[in-house]
Amino acid sequence: RPYVAAADRYEHFGYRRVGNSGLLLPPISLGLWWNFGDNRTFDSQREILRHAFDNGITHFDLANNYGPPYGSAEENFGRMLRKDFKPYRNELVISSKAGWDMWPGPHGQLGSRKYILASADESLERMGLDYVDIFYSHRADADTPLEETIGALDSLVRQGRALYVGISSYSAERTAAAADIARSLGTPLLIHQPAYSLFNRWVENGLLETLEQYGMGSIAFTPLAQGLLTGKYIGDAGAEPSGGRGSLQGHITEENIAKARALNEIAGERGQTLAQFAIAWLLRDGGATSVLLGASSTAQLDENLGALANTSFSDDELRRIDDITAG
Ligand code: NDP
Repeated sequence: RPYVAAADRYEHFGYRRVGNSGLLLPPISLGLWWNFGDNRTFDSQREILRHAFDNGITHFDLANNYGPPYGSAEENFGRMLRKDFKPYRNELVISSKAGWDMWPGPHGQLGSRKYILASADESLERMGLDYVDIFYSHRADADTPLEETIGALDSLVRQGRALYVGISSYSAERTAAAADIARSLGTPLLIHQPAYSLFNRWVENGLLETLEQYGMGSIAFTPLAQGLLTGKYIGDAGAEPSGGRGSLQGHITEENIAKARALNEIAGERGQTLAQFAIAWLLRDGGATSVLLGASSTAQLDENLGALANTSFSDDELRRIDDITAG
């Protein structure tokens, strides 16, 4: 049965402008890092993507090495594009990235022109696309001239392979330098994708100001601290990370669980679950343009979309939150 998108998909929330650009993102975007490789069935992935789009989520975020194995998330997404989303291509904002390890040898990662242009080609081929909407340099490369990395992004735009470009996890200082170079080339850097959550607030130490200064937007990754800022680990029974999220193990400490429980108290006063609260906080005035979530079920997506019912915070709430996360 061919997929027909819900007719009311644009009636759920307002879209948010990315910096001073013409691009608008949904407040909640969906990342395909974890649950869209060959480790999940095609049908379960398809159900999540359809549900997301039916609910107004127009932005899907990928990268060359999302899977597992590397490349499989883009391949699977390409299949779903062909089967379900082809008629909706112009409504979708699809991103990809290059920066982390993708193939062996010295040009299989980081920021060289050689790697970025080759990787972008491969990503487009896997997804069956002529262009992506946003292409990112996935991480800073201290050994490659910034002019070369940003020049490669500029080339992608000029060749029509990307409409917009951005950077991920660059320091505030390097972001400013990159934005200056991009500007001089005539291709503005549009967006920064940093880790940002109640538990990881490094962007507040200069980066958000720099983005404001340069008219750039932001999209926060790992907003739920990979599940730590949800109801999953704060119950009395506890829980183990699912799906091989091994990197999470070290963060499920007594201290973090105590903080999550304290935050959950404030969430409760606001009538929100912890996940909704963590997302709403990122979308507060002065926060991120969009929140980039992972999800392994449509129920998680539904809960998380509920965050949009209340994204304003009183000064008192903000102070109490800061006390908890700093403590
Ligand atoms: P999150 O912090 O959003 O964690 C998502 C996970 O949290 C889900 O997979 C699920 O875990 C759990 N979860 C989500 N909602 C709920 C809920 N309501 N209740 C209980 N558990 C919930 O982010 P990710 O770390 O997955 O990253 C999100 C996206 O950010 C990635 O897909 C990717 O696009 C991007 N990213 C970018 C990076 C970069 O370097 N630029 C680095 C990392 C991520 P489970 O699967 O176990 O059910």
